[in-house]
Amino acid sequence: MNLENIRIVLVNTSHPGNIGGVARAMKNMGLTRLYLVEPRQYPDERATWRATSATDVLDNAVITSTLEEAIGDCQFVVGTSARSRRIPWPLLDPRACAGRMAEVSDREQVAVLFGREDRGLTNDELKVCNLHLNIPTSEEYSSLNLAMAVQIVCYELRMLLDAEKLPATEDDQWDTPFATRENMERFYTHLEETLVDIGFLDPAAPRQLMARLRRLYSRVRLDEMELNILRGMLTETQKFLPRDEAGKVIDPQAK
Ligand code: SAH
Repeated sequence: MNLENIRIVLVNTSHPGNIGGVARAMKNMGLTRLYLVEPRQYPDERATWRATSATDVLDNAVITSTLEEAIGDCQFVVGTSARSRRIPWPLLDPRACAGRMAEVSDREQVAVLFGREDRGLTNDELKVCNLHLNIPTSEEYSSLNLAMAVQIVCYELRMLLDAEKLPATEDDQWDTPFATRENMERFYTHLEETLVDIGFLDPAAPRQLMARLRRLYSRVRLDEMELNILRGMLTETQKFLPRDEAGKVIDPQAK
């Protein structure tokens, strides 16, 4: 993914404060390219104020008088909308949509369009988009503040970017190999023996004890080191057991 190839386009925004809020939301998540199509009041000190430490994003913003100028060089355009419109269009949630944008952004220019505070994007504007993005909300109130909608979209991109940098799963960075099935079986045998020897498990009425213990240990997925620790504890426990002259453990049930 290349965040440099993803731009945020605000169409005809009325409140300059929202423009500042968008700049901040973008910078927090590592996006830098802001396009303002016909902003109603801009520049404005309320924008600068809301941007706080993201005024560089505002300074570098490109202001255009038409949407076409802002997205003419883009190969992939996403339109955001609070309601599903009459025109059926491929519609994705922010996470799925971020996945598509991430893929495309390696090779192509991507734009995400955000509409007016009062009316959103027009049907004509939504029709130039390759897909539509809707942020799931309560049915009662589906319209987010503009900067907060931008925040959510940028956050999903950020999550994907960070996921690319990390090893695929937690397991990949584990320092010790995970226990093999064979060693797990040896452990269960050892555990069962010990539990019988100390009188905790009655072989005549085992109930579901071993099954439950297996389920417990398989939930954590032990590594070889942890397995050795547990087996060491079992071995030490067995040393305390009363034995007959032949070294055989005296049946605790017989006591
Ligand atoms: N009344 C307008 C809401 C505009 S909110 C409408 O019904 O469309 C301003 C902008 O924030 C929207 O144009 C859209 O870009 C974004 N937005 C707000 N809520 C959203 C949501 N639930 N899903 C996607 N985008 C949303």
